[in-house]
Amino acid sequence: MCHVHKIDCGICLDQLTNSIDLDCGHKFCEKCIAPWIITKQENSNCPMCRNKIDADFIECANMWGLQRNLVTPVKVYLYTLDVLDDYEKLIVSVFVGSDIGKFLTTYQLELIASDISSEVYDKLYSDRTEKIFYMPKTNDDFPDLHVIVE
Ligand SMILES: [Zn+2]
Ligand SMILES: [Zn+2]
Repeated sequence: MCHVHKIDCGICLDQLTNSIDLDCGHKFCEKCIAPWIITKQENSNCPMCRNKIDADFIECANMWGLQRNLVTPVKVYLYTLDVLDDYEKLIVSVFVGSDIGKFLTTYQLELIASDISSEVYDKLYSDRTEKIFYMPKTNDDFPDLHVIVE
Protein backbone atom coordinates (compact mmCIF):
# COMPACT_ATOMS: atom_id res chain seq x y z
CA MET A 1 0.00 0.00 0.00
CA CYS A 2 1.38 3.33 -0.97
CA HIS A 3 0.80 6.42 1.00
CA VAL A 4 0.82 10.08 0.03
CA HIS A 5 4.17 11.72 0.66
CA LYS A 6 3.79 14.94 2.53
CA ILE A 7 6.53 17.07 3.96
CA ASP A 8 6.58 17.22 7.72
CA CYS A 9 8.54 19.44 10.06
CA GLY A 10 11.68 17.69 11.30
CA ILE A 11 11.11 19.00 14.82
CA CYS A 12 7.39 18.56 15.60
CA LEU A 13 6.92 15.84 12.92
CA ASP A 14 3.60 17.47 12.06
CA GLN A 15 2.60 19.19 8.86
CA LEU A 16 4.55 22.36 8.22
CA THR A 17 3.05 25.65 9.33
CA ASN A 18 4.77 28.86 8.14
CA SER A 19 7.50 26.79 6.51
CA ILE A 20 11.09 27.98 6.86
CA ASP A 21 13.41 26.58 4.20
CA LEU A 22 17.00 26.45 5.36
CA ASP A 23 19.89 26.65 2.86
CA CYS A 24 20.54 22.91 3.36
CA GLY A 25 17.05 22.19 2.00
CA HIS A 26 15.46 21.07 5.26
CA LYS A 27 12.14 22.65 6.15
CA PHE A 28 10.69 23.44 9.54
CA CYS A 29 7.77 25.35 11.00
CA GLU A 30 8.76 28.86 11.99
CA LYS A 31 7.49 28.24 15.54
CA CYS A 32 9.75 25.15 15.80
CA ILE A 33 13.02 26.33 14.25
CA ALA A 34 13.02 29.88 15.68
CA PRO A 35 13.36 28.83 19.36
CA TRP A 36 16.09 26.36 18.33
CA ILE A 37 18.04 29.17 16.65
CA ILE A 38 17.38 31.60 19.49
CA THR A 39 18.96 29.18 21.94
CA LYS A 40 22.01 28.37 19.82
CA GLN A 41 22.54 31.82 18.25
CA GLU A 42 25.74 31.96 16.15
CA ASN A 43 26.28 28.23 16.74
CA SER A 44 22.93 27.48 15.10
CA ASN A 45 22.86 24.48 12.84
CA CYS A 46 20.18 22.47 11.12
CA PRO A 47 18.63 19.95 13.58
CA MET A 48 18.58 17.37 10.77
CA CYS A 49 21.96 17.64 9.01
CA ARG A 50 23.97 19.96 11.31
CA ASN A 51 24.63 22.37 8.46
CA LYS A 52 25.49 25.85 9.75
CA ILE A 53 22.52 28.21 9.73
CA ASP A 54 22.97 31.46 7.84
CA ALA A 55 23.26 34.76 9.75
CA ASP A 56 20.11 36.09 8.02
CA PHE A 57 18.05 33.27 9.52
CA ILE A 58 19.56 33.93 12.94
CA GLU A 59 18.62 37.60 12.61
CA CYS A 60 15.06 36.68 11.60
CA ALA A 61 14.75 34.23 14.49
CA ASN A 62 15.91 36.91 16.91
CA MET A 63 13.33 39.37 15.55
CA TRP A 64 10.70 36.64 15.92
CA GLY A 65 11.83 36.07 19.51
CA LEU A 66 11.90 39.80 20.21
CA GLN A 67 8.24 40.15 19.12
CA ARG A 68 7.30 37.34 21.48
CA ASN A 69 9.46 38.58 24.32
CA LEU A 70 11.64 35.45 24.25
CA VAL A 71 14.99 37.16 23.81
CA THR A 72 16.70 40.09 25.41
CA PRO A 73 18.82 42.37 23.28
CA VAL A 74 22.14 43.05 24.96
CA LYS A 75 24.31 45.91 23.86
CA VAL A 76 27.94 44.86 23.75
CA TYR A 77 30.88 47.17 23.27
CA LEU A 78 33.85 45.69 21.48
CA TYR A 79 37.25 47.20 22.15
CA THR A 80 40.41 46.74 20.18
CA LEU A 81 43.73 46.14 21.88
CA ASP A 82 45.74 47.60 19.00
CA VAL A 83 46.13 50.90 20.81
CA LEU A 84 47.85 49.29 23.77
CA ASP A 85 51.56 48.76 24.15
CA ASP A 86 52.93 45.47 25.44
CA TYR A 87 52.84 46.37 29.12
CA GLU A 88 49.26 47.52 28.89
CA LYS A 89 48.29 44.44 26.90
CA LEU A 90 49.70 42.36 29.71
CA ILE A 91 47.45 44.08 32.24
CA VAL A 92 44.39 43.70 30.05
CA SER A 93 45.27 40.08 29.38
CA VAL A 94 45.17 39.38 33.08
CA PHE A 95 41.55 40.43 33.06
CA VAL A 96 40.71 38.73 29.77
CA GLY A 97 42.35 35.53 30.94
CA SER A 98 40.50 35.44 34.22
CA ASP A 99 37.47 33.27 34.83
CA ILE A 100 35.29 36.18 33.79
CA GLY A 101 36.23 35.11 30.28
CA LYS A 102 36.19 37.80 27.66
CA PHE A 103 33.27 39.62 29.15
CA LEU A 104 34.15 42.60 31.23
CA THR A 105 31.76 44.90 32.95
CA THR A 106 32.17 48.64 32.92
CA TYR A 107 33.45 48.39 36.45
CA GLN A 108 36.20 45.98 35.47
CA LEU A 109 37.16 48.21 32.56
CA GLU A 110 37.53 51.07 35.04
CA LEU A 111 39.93 48.90 37.00
CA ILE A 112 42.02 48.31 33.88
CA ALA A 113 41.89 52.01 33.14
CA SER A 114 43.47 52.80 36.48
CA ASP A 115 46.56 50.97 35.20
CA ILE A 116 46.76 52.45 31.71
CA SER A 117 47.32 55.98 30.49
CA SER A 118 44.31 58.22 30.01
CA GLU A 119 45.15 58.70 26.30
CA VAL A 120 45.02 54.94 25.75
CA TYR A 121 41.84 54.68 27.75
CA ASP A 122 40.24 57.47 25.69
CA LYS A 123 41.35 55.75 22.50
CA LEU A 124 39.91 52.43 23.66
CA TYR A 125 36.63 54.20 24.29
CA SER A 126 36.55 56.19 21.06
CA ASP A 127 37.45 53.13 18.94
CA ARG A 128 34.91 50.84 20.52
CA THR A 129 32.18 49.42 18.35
CA GLU A 130 28.69 48.59 19.39
CA LYS A 131 27.01 45.30 18.64
CA ILE A 132 23.64 43.96 19.69
CA PHE A 133 23.52 40.36 20.86
CA TYR A 134 20.32 38.48 21.61
CA MET A 135 20.14 36.23 24.61
CA PRO A 136 17.38 33.71 25.30
CA LYS A 137 15.32 35.18 28.08
CA THR A 138 16.13 33.61 31.40
CA ASN A 139 16.99 36.77 33.28
CA ASP A 140 15.36 40.16 32.83
CA ASP A 141 18.35 42.06 34.00
CA PHE A 142 21.17 41.74 31.48
CA PRO A 143 23.71 44.52 31.73
CA ASP A 144 25.49 46.20 28.83
CA LEU A 145 28.56 44.05 28.33
CA HIS A 146 32.04 45.09 27.39
CA VAL A 147 34.22 42.72 25.40
CA ILE A 148 37.86 43.18 24.62
CA VAL A 149 38.88 41.70 21.30
CA GLU A 150 42.41 41.29 20.02
ZN1 LIG B 1 7.20 22.01 13.42
ZN1 LIG C 1 19.60 20.45 7.07
